[in-house]
Amino acid sequence: MKATLLQPALLKSESYIDGQWVKAGSGKTFAVTNPANGEVIIEVCDAAVDETNRAIAAADNALKGWQALTAKERSQLLRRWYQLILENEEDLATLMTLEQGKPLAEARGEVNYGASFIDWFADEARRIYGDVIPSFANDRKVLTIKQPVGVVAAITPWNFPIAMITRKAAPALAAGCTIVIKPSEETPLCALALAELADQAGIPAGVLNVVTGKDSKAIGGVLTGHTAVRKLSFTGSTPVGKLLLSQCAQTVKRTSMELGGNAPFIVFDDADLDAAVDGLLASKYRNAGQTCVCANRILVQDGVYDAFAEKLAERVKQFKTADGFSENTTIGPLINPAAIDKVQQLVEQAVANGAKILIGGTTASDVGAQFFQPTVLTDVTDDMTIFSSEIFGPVAPLFRFNSEQEAIDMANDTPFGLASYFYSENMARIWRVSEALEYGIVGVNEGLISSEVAPFGGVKESGSGREGSKYGIDEYVEIKYICLGGL
Ligand code: ADP
Repeated sequence: MKATLLQPALLKSESYIDGQWVKAGSGKTFAVTNPANGEVIIEVCDAAVDETNRAIAAADNALKGWQALTAKERSQLLRRWYQLILENEEDLATLMTLEQGKPLAEARGEVNYGASFIDWFADEARRIYGDVIPSFANDRKVLTIKQPVGVVAAITPWNFPIAMITRKAAPALAAGCTIVIKPSEETPLCALALAELADQAGIPAGVLNVVTGKDSKAIGGVLTGHTAVRKLSFTGSTPVGKLLLSQCAQTVKRTSMELGGNAPFIVFDDADLDAAVDGLLASKYRNAGQTCVCANRILVQDGVYDAFAEKLAERVKQFKTADGFSENTTIGPLINPAAIDKVQQLVEQAVANGAKILIGGTTASDVGAQFFQPTVLTDVTDDMTIFSSEIFGPVAPLFRFNSEQEAIDMANDTPFGLASYFYSENMARIWRVSEALEYGIVGVNEGLISSEVAPFGGVKESGSGREGSKYGIDEYVEIKYICLGGL
Protein backbone atom coordinates (compact mmCIF):
# COMPACT_ATOMS: atom_id res chain seq x y z
CA MET A 1 0.00 0.00 0.00
CA LYS A 2 1.40 3.38 -1.02
CA ALA A 3 -0.76 5.96 0.71
CA THR A 4 -0.05 6.12 4.41
CA LEU A 5 -2.64 6.42 7.14
CA LEU A 6 -2.54 8.75 10.12
CA GLN A 7 -4.01 5.95 12.23
CA PRO A 8 -2.46 2.75 10.82
CA ALA A 9 -4.82 0.66 13.00
CA LEU A 10 -7.55 1.48 10.49
CA LEU A 11 -6.00 -0.78 7.87
CA LYS A 12 -7.39 -4.18 8.79
CA SER A 13 -7.07 -7.53 7.10
CA GLU A 14 -9.17 -9.75 9.36
CA SER A 15 -12.93 -10.12 9.76
CA TYR A 16 -14.54 -8.55 12.83
CA ILE A 17 -16.66 -11.06 14.71
CA ASP A 18 -17.89 -10.78 18.30
CA GLY A 19 -15.53 -7.92 19.00
CA GLN A 20 -12.50 -9.91 17.81
CA TRP A 21 -10.35 -9.67 14.70
CA VAL A 22 -10.31 -13.12 13.19
CA LYS A 23 -8.62 -14.95 10.35
CA ALA A 24 -10.50 -17.46 8.23
CA GLY A 25 -10.47 -20.95 9.76
CA SER A 26 -9.35 -22.20 6.34
CA GLY A 27 -6.37 -19.83 6.49
CA LYS A 28 -7.46 -18.43 3.12
CA THR A 29 -7.14 -14.80 2.13
CA PHE A 30 -8.07 -12.80 -0.95
CA ALA A 31 -6.39 -9.83 -2.58
CA VAL A 32 -7.88 -6.34 -2.47
CA THR A 33 -6.62 -4.39 -5.44
CA ASN A 34 -6.40 -0.74 -6.41
CA PRO A 35 -8.54 -0.26 -9.54
CA ALA A 36 -6.35 2.64 -10.68
CA ASN A 37 -3.30 0.47 -11.24
CA GLY A 38 -4.21 -3.14 -10.47
CA GLU A 39 -1.75 -3.33 -7.57
CA VAL A 40 -2.57 -5.48 -4.57
CA ILE A 41 -3.22 -3.31 -1.51
CA ILE A 42 -3.46 -6.10 1.03
CA GLU A 43 -4.66 -9.68 1.48
CA VAL A 44 -7.85 -9.95 3.53
CA CYS A 45 -9.46 -12.80 5.48
CA ASP A 46 -11.50 -14.96 3.13
CA ALA A 47 -14.27 -15.91 5.53
CA ALA A 48 -16.95 -18.40 4.53
CA VAL A 49 -19.70 -20.51 6.08
CA ASP A 50 -18.16 -21.14 9.52
CA GLU A 51 -17.25 -17.52 10.16
CA THR A 52 -20.67 -16.35 9.01
CA ASN A 53 -22.37 -18.75 11.41
CA ARG A 54 -20.13 -17.48 14.21
CA ALA A 55 -20.99 -13.88 13.40
CA ILE A 56 -24.71 -14.64 13.43
CA ALA A 57 -24.36 -16.44 16.78
CA ALA A 58 -22.46 -13.43 18.16
CA ALA A 59 -25.12 -11.02 16.92
CA ASP A 60 -27.83 -13.21 18.39
CA ASN A 61 -26.05 -13.37 21.77
CA ALA A 62 -25.52 -9.63 21.83
CA LEU A 63 -29.14 -8.85 21.07
CA LYS A 64 -30.51 -8.93 24.63
CA GLY A 65 -27.79 -6.74 26.10
CA TRP A 66 -28.05 -4.22 23.28
CA GLN A 67 -31.81 -3.98 23.63
CA ALA A 68 -31.48 -3.60 27.38
CA LEU A 69 -29.66 -0.30 26.92
CA THR A 70 -31.83 2.77 26.97
CA ALA A 71 -32.43 4.55 23.70
CA LYS A 72 -30.27 7.36 25.01
CA GLU A 73 -27.37 5.02 25.72
CA ARG A 74 -27.55 3.54 22.22
CA SER A 75 -27.79 7.03 20.83
CA GLN A 76 -24.64 8.12 22.68
CA LEU A 77 -22.66 5.16 21.39
CA LEU A 78 -23.79 5.88 17.85
CA ARG A 79 -22.81 9.53 18.27
CA ARG A 80 -19.35 8.51 19.45
CA TRP A 81 -18.97 6.30 16.36
CA TYR A 82 -20.07 9.22 14.19
CA GLN A 83 -17.51 11.51 15.78
CA LEU A 84 -14.70 9.02 15.32
CA ILE A 85 -15.58 8.65 11.64
CA LEU A 86 -15.37 12.42 11.20
CA GLU A 87 -12.09 12.58 13.12
CA ASN A 88 -10.68 9.94 10.79
CA GLU A 89 -12.10 11.40 7.60
CA GLU A 90 -8.76 11.58 5.84
CA ASP A 91 -7.79 7.97 6.53
CA LEU A 92 -11.19 6.65 5.55
CA ALA A 93 -11.15 8.68 2.34
CA THR A 94 -7.65 7.40 1.58
CA LEU A 95 -8.74 3.79 2.05
CA MET A 96 -11.75 4.43 -0.15
CA THR A 97 -9.81 5.94 -3.02
CA LEU A 98 -7.29 3.12 -2.74
CA GLU A 99 -9.75 0.25 -2.98
CA GLN A 100 -12.62 1.84 -4.88
CA GLY A 101 -10.91 4.44 -7.06
CA LYS A 102 -13.15 7.47 -6.67
CA PRO A 103 -11.42 10.87 -6.59
CA LEU A 104 -10.20 11.77 -3.11
CA ALA A 105 -12.52 14.79 -2.89
CA GLU A 106 -15.50 12.54 -3.62
CA ALA A 107 -14.24 10.02 -1.08
CA ARG A 108 -14.11 12.72 1.58
CA GLY A 109 -17.65 13.66 0.58
CA GLU A 110 -18.78 10.08 1.03
CA VAL A 111 -17.17 9.79 4.46
CA ASN A 112 -19.25 12.77 5.57
CA TYR A 113 -22.37 11.53 3.79
CA GLY A 114 -21.92 8.07 5.30
CA ALA A 115 -21.36 9.52 8.76
CA SER A 116 -24.49 11.67 8.44
CA PHE A 117 -26.67 8.55 8.64
CA ILE A 118 -25.17 7.69 12.00
CA ASP A 119 -25.74 11.22 13.26
CA TRP A 120 -29.32 11.14 12.00
CA PHE A 121 -30.19 7.74 13.44
CA ALA A 122 -28.46 8.56 16.74
CA ASP A 123 -31.29 11.09 17.04
CA GLU A 124 -33.98 8.80 15.66
CA ALA A 125 -33.01 6.14 18.24
CA ARG A 126 -34.77 8.30 20.82
CA ARG A 127 -37.90 8.87 18.75
CA ILE A 128 -39.25 5.40 18.15
CA TYR A 129 -42.76 5.94 19.43
CA GLY A 130 -45.74 3.67 19.85
CA ASP A 131 -49.40 4.72 19.77
CA VAL A 132 -52.48 4.67 21.94
CA ILE A 133 -55.30 4.08 19.48
CA PRO A 134 -58.93 5.05 20.23
CA SER A 135 -60.37 1.70 21.27
CA PHE A 136 -63.11 -0.39 19.69
CA ALA A 137 -64.48 -1.29 23.18
CA ASN A 138 -64.70 0.59 26.48
CA ASP A 139 -63.14 -2.21 28.54
CA ARG A 140 -60.05 -2.44 26.38
CA LYS A 141 -57.13 -0.22 25.48
CA VAL A 142 -55.46 -0.52 22.09
CA LEU A 143 -51.72 0.12 22.20
CA THR A 144 -48.79 -0.34 19.88
CA ILE A 145 -45.12 -0.55 20.70
CA LYS A 146 -42.23 -0.78 18.27
CA GLN A 147 -39.60 -3.42 18.86
CA PRO A 148 -36.38 -4.25 17.03
CA VAL A 149 -36.73 -6.97 14.38
CA GLY A 150 -33.70 -8.82 15.77
CA VAL A 151 -30.52 -9.88 14.04
CA VAL A 152 -30.06 -8.08 10.73
CA ALA A 153 -27.90 -9.17 7.80
CA ALA A 154 -26.57 -6.50 5.45
CA ILE A 155 -25.04 -7.25 2.07
CA THR A 156 -23.50 -4.18 0.52
CA PRO A 157 -21.91 -3.10 -2.78
CA TRP A 158 -18.59 -1.50 -3.69
CA ASN A 159 -19.73 1.81 -5.18
CA PHE A 160 -20.29 3.51 -1.81
CA PRO A 161 -18.15 1.41 0.52
CA ILE A 162 -19.01 3.46 3.61
CA ALA A 163 -22.41 5.04 3.04
CA MET A 164 -24.13 1.82 1.97
CA ILE A 165 -23.06 0.29 5.27
CA THR A 166 -23.91 3.18 7.60
CA ARG A 167 -27.29 3.62 5.93
CA LYS A 168 -28.17 0.11 7.16
CA ALA A 169 -26.11 -0.28 10.32
CA ALA A 170 -27.10 3.04 11.89
CA PRO A 171 -30.89 2.54 11.80
CA ALA A 172 -30.47 -1.13 12.74
CA LEU A 173 -28.40 -0.32 15.83
CA ALA A 174 -30.59 2.68 16.70
CA ALA A 175 -33.65 0.44 16.70
CA GLY A 176 -31.96 -2.11 18.99
CA CYS A 177 -31.02 -4.67 16.35
CA THR A 178 -27.60 -6.26 15.99
CA ILE A 179 -26.02 -6.72 12.59
CA VAL A 180 -23.80 -8.92 10.44
CA ILE A 181 -22.37 -7.03 7.48
CA LYS A 182 -21.03 -8.70 4.35
CA PRO A 183 -19.30 -5.95 2.37
CA SER A 184 -18.40 -6.27 -1.27
CA GLU A 185 -15.25 -8.29 -1.86
CA GLU A 186 -14.01 -5.32 -3.94
CA THR A 187 -14.09 -2.91 -0.97
CA PRO A 188 -13.72 -4.68 2.39
CA LEU A 189 -11.18 -2.19 3.81
CA CYS A 190 -13.64 0.65 4.41
CA ALA A 191 -16.04 -1.77 6.08
CA LEU A 192 -13.31 -3.06 8.40
CA ALA A 193 -12.15 0.46 9.23
CA LEU A 194 -15.75 1.30 10.18
CA ALA A 195 -15.78 -1.76 12.43
CA GLU A 196 -12.53 -0.67 14.09
CA LEU A 197 -14.06 2.74 14.79
CA ALA A 198 -17.25 1.14 16.12
CA ASP A 199 -15.02 -0.87 18.45
CA GLN A 200 -13.16 2.27 19.54
CA ALA A 201 -16.52 3.96 20.10
CA GLY A 202 -17.42 1.27 22.63
CA ILE A 203 -20.16 -0.48 20.69
CA PRO A 204 -20.30 -3.83 22.51
CA ALA A 205 -18.90 -7.06 21.08
CA GLY A 206 -21.30 -8.88 18.77
CA VAL A 207 -23.51 -5.85 18.09
CA LEU A 208 -21.77 -5.11 14.80
CA ASN A 209 -19.89 -7.79 12.87
CA VAL A 210 -18.15 -7.65 9.50
CA VAL A 211 -17.57 -10.85 7.56
CA THR A 212 -15.23 -10.42 4.59
CA GLY A 213 -15.16 -13.14 2.00
CA LYS A 214 -14.98 -13.79 -1.69
CA ASP A 215 -17.55 -16.57 -1.76
CA SER A 216 -20.55 -14.27 -1.55
CA LYS A 217 -22.86 -17.08 -2.60
CA ALA A 218 -21.90 -19.22 0.38
CA ILE A 219 -21.96 -16.32 2.85
CA GLY A 220 -25.25 -15.08 1.39
CA GLY A 221 -26.66 -18.58 1.67
CA VAL A 222 -25.96 -18.68 5.41
CA LEU A 223 -27.23 -15.14 6.02
CA THR A 224 -30.48 -15.76 4.15
CA GLY A 225 -31.01 -19.31 5.41
CA HIS A 226 -30.30 -18.88 9.11
CA THR A 227 -33.39 -18.74 11.32
CA ALA A 228 -31.78 -16.32 13.79
CA VAL A 229 -31.45 -13.67 11.08
CA ARG A 230 -34.79 -11.87 10.94
CA LYS A 231 -34.07 -9.29 8.30
CA LEU A 232 -31.93 -8.82 5.21
CA SER A 233 -31.02 -5.41 3.91
CA PHE A 234 -29.39 -5.60 0.51
CA THR A 235 -27.97 -3.05 -1.91
CA GLY A 236 -26.74 -4.36 -5.22
CA SER A 237 -27.85 -5.63 -8.57
CA THR A 238 -31.41 -6.67 -9.37
CA PRO A 239 -30.55 -10.29 -10.33
CA VAL A 240 -28.74 -10.88 -7.02
CA GLY A 241 -31.55 -9.09 -5.16
CA LYS A 242 -34.14 -11.41 -6.71
CA LEU A 243 -32.08 -14.44 -5.77
CA LEU A 244 -31.70 -13.25 -2.17
CA LEU A 245 -35.43 -12.48 -1.95
CA SER A 246 -36.23 -16.02 -2.99
CA GLN A 247 -33.74 -17.39 -0.45
CA CYS A 248 -35.27 -15.21 2.29
CA ALA A 249 -38.72 -16.56 1.47
CA GLN A 250 -37.80 -19.88 3.09
CA THR A 251 -37.68 -18.32 6.55
CA VAL A 252 -40.02 -15.40 5.73
CA LYS A 253 -37.48 -12.73 6.58
CA ARG A 254 -38.15 -9.03 6.42
CA THR A 255 -36.26 -7.53 3.49
CA SER A 256 -35.16 -4.13 2.22
CA MET A 257 -33.89 -4.10 -1.32
CA GLU A 258 -32.01 -1.28 -3.02
CA LEU A 259 -31.48 -2.64 -6.50
CA GLY A 260 -30.60 -1.40 -9.97
CA GLY A 261 -31.83 1.76 -11.64
CA ASN A 262 -32.20 3.13 -15.14
CA ALA A 263 -32.65 6.80 -14.33
CA PRO A 264 -34.17 9.08 -16.95
CA PHE A 265 -32.94 12.67 -17.01
CA ILE A 266 -35.44 14.75 -18.99
CA VAL A 267 -34.61 18.17 -20.37
CA PHE A 268 -37.74 20.01 -21.57
CA ASP A 269 -37.73 22.92 -24.02
CA ASP A 270 -38.57 25.28 -21.16
CA ALA A 271 -35.61 24.19 -19.00
CA ASP A 272 -32.80 26.42 -17.83
CA LEU A 273 -30.20 24.68 -19.99
CA ASP A 274 -27.16 25.74 -17.98
CA ALA A 275 -28.76 24.45 -14.79
CA ALA A 276 -29.66 21.22 -16.59
CA VAL A 277 -26.06 20.76 -17.73
CA ASP A 278 -24.84 21.34 -14.15
CA GLY A 279 -27.37 18.84 -12.84
CA LEU A 280 -26.44 16.25 -15.42
CA LEU A 281 -22.73 16.56 -14.74
CA ALA A 282 -23.37 15.97 -11.04
CA SER A 283 -25.78 13.11 -11.57
CA LYS A 284 -24.07 11.36 -14.48
CA TYR A 285 -20.34 11.56 -13.87
CA ARG A 286 -20.06 11.31 -10.09
CA ASN A 287 -18.11 8.19 -9.12
CA ALA A 288 -17.33 7.77 -12.85
CA GLY A 289 -21.00 7.01 -13.43
CA GLN A 290 -21.07 4.14 -10.95
CA THR A 291 -24.06 4.98 -8.79
CA CYS A 292 -27.54 3.49 -8.91
CA VAL A 293 -29.03 6.99 -9.18
CA CYS A 294 -26.77 8.13 -12.03
CA ALA A 295 -28.64 9.61 -14.98
CA ASN A 296 -28.71 6.71 -17.42
CA ARG A 297 -30.94 7.92 -20.25
CA ILE A 298 -30.82 11.60 -21.07
CA LEU A 299 -34.05 12.52 -22.85
CA VAL A 300 -33.84 15.93 -24.51
CA GLN A 301 -36.69 17.74 -26.24
CA ASP A 302 -36.24 18.50 -29.94
CA GLY A 303 -36.05 22.27 -29.62
CA VAL A 304 -33.06 22.28 -27.25
CA TYR A 305 -31.37 19.01 -28.21
CA ASP A 306 -28.44 20.42 -30.18
CA ALA A 307 -27.81 23.34 -27.86
CA PHE A 308 -27.88 21.07 -24.81
CA ALA A 309 -25.53 18.53 -26.40
CA GLU A 310 -23.06 21.25 -27.29
CA LYS A 311 -23.06 22.84 -23.85
CA LEU A 312 -22.66 19.44 -22.24
CA ALA A 313 -19.73 18.39 -24.42
CA GLU A 314 -18.02 21.72 -23.72
CA ARG A 315 -18.08 21.00 -19.98
CA VAL A 316 -17.19 17.30 -20.27
CA LYS A 317 -14.11 18.34 -22.23
CA GLN A 318 -12.78 19.96 -19.06
CA PHE A 319 -12.89 16.75 -17.01
CA LYS A 320 -9.67 15.20 -15.81
CA THR A 321 -9.48 11.41 -16.02
CA ALA A 322 -6.79 10.18 -13.66
CA ASP A 323 -5.91 8.27 -10.49
CA GLY A 324 -8.19 9.42 -7.69
CA PHE A 325 -5.21 10.61 -5.67
CA SER A 326 -3.96 13.05 -8.29
CA GLU A 327 -5.11 16.61 -7.90
CA ASN A 328 -8.36 17.79 -9.54
CA THR A 329 -9.29 14.34 -10.83
CA THR A 330 -12.94 14.23 -11.82
CA ILE A 331 -13.12 10.75 -13.37
CA GLY A 332 -11.37 7.86 -11.63
CA PRO A 333 -11.13 4.23 -12.75
CA LEU A 334 -14.02 1.82 -13.11
CA ILE A 335 -14.14 -0.89 -10.48
CA ASN A 336 -12.87 -3.87 -12.48
CA PRO A 337 -12.08 -5.12 -16.00
CA ALA A 338 -15.63 -6.46 -16.46
CA ALA A 339 -17.03 -2.97 -15.91
CA ILE A 340 -14.78 -1.55 -18.63
CA ASP A 341 -15.81 -4.31 -21.07
CA LYS A 342 -19.49 -3.70 -20.41
CA VAL A 343 -19.30 0.05 -20.95
CA GLN A 344 -17.22 -0.36 -24.09
CA GLN A 345 -19.68 -2.87 -25.54
CA LEU A 346 -22.66 -0.62 -24.85
CA VAL A 347 -20.98 2.30 -26.60
CA GLU A 348 -19.84 0.17 -29.55
CA GLN A 349 -23.29 -1.32 -29.97
CA ALA A 350 -24.91 2.12 -29.94
CA VAL A 351 -22.41 3.50 -32.45
CA ALA A 352 -22.84 0.49 -34.73
CA ASN A 353 -26.56 1.27 -34.77
CA GLY A 354 -26.24 4.92 -35.62
CA ALA A 355 -25.32 6.81 -32.44
CA LYS A 356 -22.64 9.49 -32.79
CA ILE A 357 -19.75 10.17 -30.44
CA LEU A 358 -19.68 13.84 -29.52
CA ILE A 359 -16.80 13.41 -27.11
CA GLY A 360 -14.91 10.48 -25.57
CA GLY A 361 -16.20 7.12 -26.73
CA THR A 362 -13.51 4.68 -25.72
CA THR A 363 -11.19 3.53 -22.97
CA ALA A 364 -8.59 5.92 -21.59
CA SER A 365 -5.82 3.33 -21.80
CA ASP A 366 -3.16 6.02 -21.70
CA VAL A 367 -4.23 6.61 -18.07
CA GLY A 368 -4.70 2.97 -17.10
CA ALA A 369 -6.43 -0.26 -18.06
CA GLN A 370 -9.60 0.46 -16.09
CA PHE A 371 -10.25 4.04 -17.16
CA PHE A 372 -12.97 5.10 -19.61
CA GLN A 373 -13.14 8.51 -21.26
CA PRO A 374 -16.06 10.67 -20.17
CA THR A 375 -18.37 10.31 -23.13
CA VAL A 376 -21.38 12.01 -24.71
CA LEU A 377 -23.35 10.16 -27.38
CA THR A 378 -25.99 11.79 -29.59
CA ASP A 379 -28.64 10.33 -31.91
CA VAL A 380 -29.21 7.48 -29.50
CA THR A 381 -32.52 5.65 -29.87
CA ASP A 382 -34.62 3.49 -27.61
CA ASP A 383 -34.02 0.31 -29.62
CA MET A 384 -30.34 0.32 -28.63
CA THR A 385 -29.20 -1.84 -25.70
CA ILE A 386 -27.92 1.25 -23.87
CA PHE A 387 -31.54 2.40 -23.40
CA SER A 388 -32.38 -0.63 -21.29
CA SER A 389 -29.03 -1.27 -19.56
CA GLU A 390 -27.65 0.32 -16.45
CA ILE A 391 -24.41 1.74 -17.88
CA PHE A 392 -22.42 2.20 -14.65
CA GLY A 393 -19.79 4.22 -16.48
CA PRO A 394 -19.11 7.83 -17.53
CA VAL A 395 -21.25 7.70 -20.68
CA ALA A 396 -24.18 10.05 -21.35
CA PRO A 397 -26.47 8.86 -24.17
CA LEU A 398 -28.78 11.62 -25.48
CA PHE A 399 -32.20 10.53 -26.75
CA ARG A 400 -34.57 12.88 -28.57
CA PHE A 401 -38.30 13.40 -27.88
CA ASN A 402 -41.10 15.66 -29.10
CA SER A 403 -43.93 15.87 -26.58
CA GLU A 404 -44.21 15.75 -22.80
CA GLN A 405 -46.22 12.53 -23.02
CA GLU A 406 -43.56 10.91 -25.19
CA ALA A 407 -40.92 11.79 -22.59
CA ILE A 408 -43.01 10.33 -19.77
CA ASP A 409 -43.67 7.15 -21.76
CA MET A 410 -39.97 6.74 -22.58
CA ALA A 411 -38.97 7.45 -18.98
CA ASN A 412 -41.36 4.82 -17.63
CA ASP A 413 -40.49 2.25 -20.30
CA THR A 414 -38.29 0.20 -17.98
CA PRO A 415 -38.78 -2.37 -15.23
CA PHE A 416 -36.73 -0.09 -12.95
CA GLY A 417 -37.94 2.80 -10.83
CA LEU A 418 -35.28 4.26 -8.54
CA ALA A 419 -34.26 7.84 -9.38
CA SER A 420 -35.51 10.16 -12.13
CA TYR A 421 -34.75 13.78 -12.96
CA PHE A 422 -36.24 16.50 -15.09
CA TYR A 423 -35.65 20.14 -15.84
CA SER A 424 -38.49 22.55 -16.58
CA GLU A 425 -39.43 26.08 -15.54
CA ASN A 426 -43.15 25.46 -15.93
CA MET A 427 -44.90 24.87 -12.60
CA ALA A 428 -47.90 22.99 -14.01
CA ARG A 429 -45.59 20.68 -15.94
CA ILE A 430 -43.40 20.17 -12.89
CA TRP A 431 -46.35 18.87 -10.92
CA ARG A 432 -47.77 16.77 -13.79
CA VAL A 433 -44.46 15.09 -14.60
CA SER A 434 -43.51 14.55 -10.95
CA GLU A 435 -46.72 12.59 -10.48
CA ALA A 436 -46.44 10.68 -13.74
CA LEU A 437 -42.91 9.34 -13.26
CA GLU A 438 -42.99 5.80 -11.87
CA TYR A 439 -39.98 6.29 -9.62
CA GLY A 440 -39.22 6.37 -5.91
CA ILE A 441 -37.20 9.58 -6.30
CA VAL A 442 -37.74 12.58 -8.56
CA GLY A 443 -35.16 15.35 -8.83
CA VAL A 444 -36.81 18.47 -10.24
CA ASN A 445 -34.26 21.00 -11.47
CA GLU A 446 -31.74 19.18 -9.29
CA GLY A 447 -29.21 16.46 -10.02
CA LEU A 448 -28.02 15.67 -6.50
CA ILE A 449 -30.81 14.21 -4.43
CA SER A 450 -29.20 12.01 -1.77
CA SER A 451 -29.35 13.09 1.87
CA GLU A 452 -29.78 11.39 5.20
CA VAL A 453 -32.96 13.43 5.83
CA ALA A 454 -34.75 12.16 2.68
CA PRO A 455 -36.18 8.70 1.96
CA PHE A 456 -34.08 6.81 -0.58
CA GLY A 457 -35.57 3.84 -2.37
CA GLY A 458 -37.18 2.53 -5.50
CA VAL A 459 -40.34 1.03 -6.95
CA LYS A 460 -40.85 -1.79 -9.47
CA GLU A 461 -37.71 -3.92 -9.87
CA SER A 462 -35.54 -1.27 -8.21
CA GLY A 463 -36.57 -2.68 -4.88
CA SER A 464 -38.56 -2.07 -1.77
CA GLY A 465 -38.13 -0.20 1.48
CA ARG A 466 -36.66 3.22 2.19
CA GLU A 467 -33.32 4.18 3.69
CA GLY A 468 -32.53 7.37 5.58
CA SER A 469 -35.12 9.90 6.79
CA LYS A 470 -37.71 9.37 9.50
CA TYR A 471 -39.01 6.38 7.48
CA GLY A 472 -35.67 4.55 7.50
CA ILE A 473 -36.07 3.28 11.03
CA ASP A 474 -39.37 1.54 10.13
CA GLU A 475 -37.38 -1.09 8.23
CA TYR A 476 -35.82 -2.25 11.52
CA VAL A 477 -38.80 -2.34 13.87
CA GLU A 478 -41.84 -4.53 14.23
CA ILE A 479 -45.13 -3.02 15.36
CA LYS A 480 -46.60 -4.98 18.22
CA TYR A 481 -50.29 -4.51 18.97
CA ILE A 482 -51.17 -4.87 22.64
CA CYS A 483 -54.82 -5.21 23.50
CA LEU A 484 -55.13 -4.36 27.18
CA GLY A 485 -58.41 -5.85 28.40
CA GLY A 486 -60.32 -6.29 31.64
CA LEU A 487 -60.54 -2.59 32.36
P1 ADP B 1 -22.59 -5.09 -8.12
O1 ADP B 1 -22.83 -5.26 -9.57
O2 ADP B 1 -22.89 -3.75 -7.58
O3 ADP B 1 -21.30 -5.67 -7.64
P2 ADP B 1 -23.83 -7.36 -6.90
O4 ADP B 1 -25.29 -7.56 -6.72
O5 ADP B 1 -23.08 -8.33 -7.73
O6 ADP B 1 -23.74 -5.89 -7.46
O7 ADP B 1 -23.09 -7.26 -5.52
C1 ADP B 1 -23.60 -6.59 -4.40
C2 ADP B 1 -23.26 -7.38 -3.17
O8 ADP B 1 -23.88 -8.65 -3.27
C3 ADP B 1 -21.77 -7.66 -2.98
O9 ADP B 1 -21.47 -7.62 -1.60
C4 ADP B 1 -21.62 -9.06 -3.52
O10 ADP B 1 -20.54 -9.75 -2.96
C5 ADP B 1 -22.92 -9.68 -3.07
N1 ADP B 1 -23.35 -10.85 -3.83
C6 ADP B 1 -23.16 -11.11 -5.15
N2 ADP B 1 -23.71 -12.29 -5.46
C7 ADP B 1 -24.26 -12.80 -4.34
C8 ADP B 1 -24.98 -14.00 -4.00
N3 ADP B 1 -25.25 -14.93 -4.91
N4 ADP B 1 -25.39 -14.16 -2.72
C9 ADP B 1 -25.13 -13.23 -1.79
N5 ADP B 1 -24.46 -12.09 -2.04
C10 ADP B 1 -24.03 -11.87 -3.29
